[in-house]
Amino acid sequence: MDYTKQRNNMVEHQIKARGITDERLLDALRKVERHLFIPGHSDHFAYSDGPMCIGEGQTISQPYIVALMLDMLKIKPEDIVLEIGTGSGYQTAIIAEIAGEVYSVERIPSLARNARKILDTLGYSNIKIQQGDGTIGWKPEKENEKDITFDAIIVSAAAPSIPEGLLTQLKEGGRLVLPCGSRFVQDLVCVRKENGNIIKENFGGCQFVPLIGEQGW
Ligand code: SAH
Repeated sequence: MDYTKQRNNMVEHQIKARGITDERLLDALRKVERHLFIPGHSDHFAYSDGPMCIGEGQTISQPYIVALMLDMLKIKPEDIVLEIGTGSGYQTAIIAEIAGEVYSVERIPSLARNARKILDTLGYSNIKIQQGDGTIGWKPEKENEKDITFDAIIVSAAAPSIPEGLLTQLKEGGRLVLPCGSRFVQDLVCVRKENGNIIKENFGGCQFVPLIGEQGW
């Protein structure tokens, strides 16, 4: 079944209608087949305006939230992006469409495995997935990753505070977006690193599953 129409409607009514105008991002949302990332549901519901269960007690974010967070990051085609919380791999695919490279960390082994499988099947060659605790950032796998830093970092699970490890891996001039607050309700926060200073901007209420790890819950 072809869900092009559902995807175009999703972008028109859920994303553009709420003020997102970045055409590269909108094109990626029109292209990536969200229903392939949500097993066990009627495919049609994959394009509805809300979060959905992806197993292991985790959720795939509402399409608008994915769009909003990526819009806040102002990703450029050559950027190297770190994602914490691969989950289904849907957002990973969207980032791969608009950035140069994506490094993604997922704590739960089965989710990391499934995401890798679908993203490989879809032919993405600019995505690296690591299973582990993303609160401490990307664990170098090769010598040339030893002091790796990222143009943008996106955290898809709720943190009690901004993990230091992630700030260390953020490039000068880079941006980090994360939900920050209590275990049950948070604010979406955008952090910029400018001339060594950390500038925080608050974008209001949201609700994410908890970020569990050394610098999380
Ligand atoms: N963006 C994802 C949604 C992820 S839900 C999508 O498009 O599907 C949040 C994910 O963060 C869950 O899969 C959860 O297992 C993961 N997570 C929680 N704590 C983590 C940690 N410390 N490191 C990496 N992943 C973590």
